[in-house]
Amino acid sequence: MGSAREVRLAQLKDWSQAKGTHLYGKYLQGERLTRGESLIAKCAECMGGYVDGRRDCRVELCPLYPYMPYHKDREEVTDEVADHSEEPEPREIN
Ligand code: SF4
Repeated sequence: MGSAREVRLAQLKDWSQAKGTHLYGKYLQGERLTRGESLIAKCAECMGGYVDGRRDCRVELCPLYPYMPYHKDREEVTDEVADHSEEPEPREIN
């Protein structure tokens, strides 16, 4: 048996061509993904390559859910870095 990476790469042959599956394959082969690509690839990994169909995971408690590729009200995925400049400084705890 090979490494976990080799095992997963072998599994990809059975995955669908849904959004993110090819990106996940690129990641497993050592390519660096953008933040947005990583997000889409993670959903493909989480959904097991969408072998049961291209569907909404409906996991509303997941922080990635607003960007899930098959979420009907999906927000656009960008690679912008969030601006936290308006956030207050952390307070010291005594
Ligand atoms: S949004 Fe859904 S598919 Fe994507 S990582 Fe979260 S639970 Fe998994």
